[in-house]
Amino acid sequence: MGMSGQLFIVPTPIGNLEDITLRAINTLKSVDLILAEDTRTSSFLLKHLQIDKPLRSYHQHNEHKILEEIISDLNAGKNIALVSDAGTPGISDPGFLLIRQAISADIKVTSLPGPTAFVPALVNSGLPCNEFSFYGFLPQKKGRLTKLKALALEEKTFVLYESPFRLVKLLEELKEHLGAERQASVSRELSKMFEENKRGSLEELARFYNAKPVKGEIVVVVQGNKFKESDDGNEE
Ligand code: SAM
Repeated sequence: MGMSGQLFIVPTPIGNLEDITLRAINTLKSVDLILAEDTRTSSFLLKHLQIDKPLRSYHQHNEHKILEEIISDLNAGKNIALVSDAGTPGISDPGFLLIRQAISADIKVTSLPGPTAFVPALVNSGLPCNEFSFYGFLPQKKGRLTKLKALALEEKTFVLYESPFRLVKLLEELKEHLGAERQASVSRELSKMFEENKRGSLEELARFYNAKPVKGEIVVVVQGNKFKESDDGNEE
């Protein structure tokens, strides 16, 4: 086991290239192999960082198949980094299967701190962030209604990822299940030139984005259910 290589989970920028850490750069420079969700996307970043390393694709369609090969490379002493297209691998991105497998094979796994979209969206929402829940993308068809019903009972501030094409639909559904007055925040294009953070009730946000179709990447942060407070009418 002493001969084994290490697996490094390396977050990459979600927009602004300046958000990569010095440690992430040094780690990418030091490993023998970089696993990338999309080798084309990552080769642009690596070129920008002047890093020339072997790249291999690791994405949801081949991750089961190549898992054993990666584990044997690690066992053979190779140091390997995993990156996704943007942000932190494993967060609404491939990574979990490999991390679990590496852990059970007694391989050292190190996850570097770094960019991810949900943290700035949550903190910037102005909603309580001492406790929160992360749900990522809601299922598109099967299970969506069940999830929405569960979200209506969620007491913590919660975070969702959504595509711009479905933002209005999502806001309308949240409005229907959680009530029009529930406060929320929509963060778009975080860290990029046209970053926008829009706060308001679900009613206000649904109206705003209905009138103004948007592009770009989106995080929706929603206030938790406060039914306990309204039960006794006491905010304390
Ligand atoms: N691994 C990434 C992370 O750590 O945040 C998430 C990957 S997931 C496939 C992509 C989604 O993340 C987008 O649809 C959007 O919801 C969110 N996202 C990524 N970059 C973003 C940005 N710059 N601004 C707002 N949302 C972003």
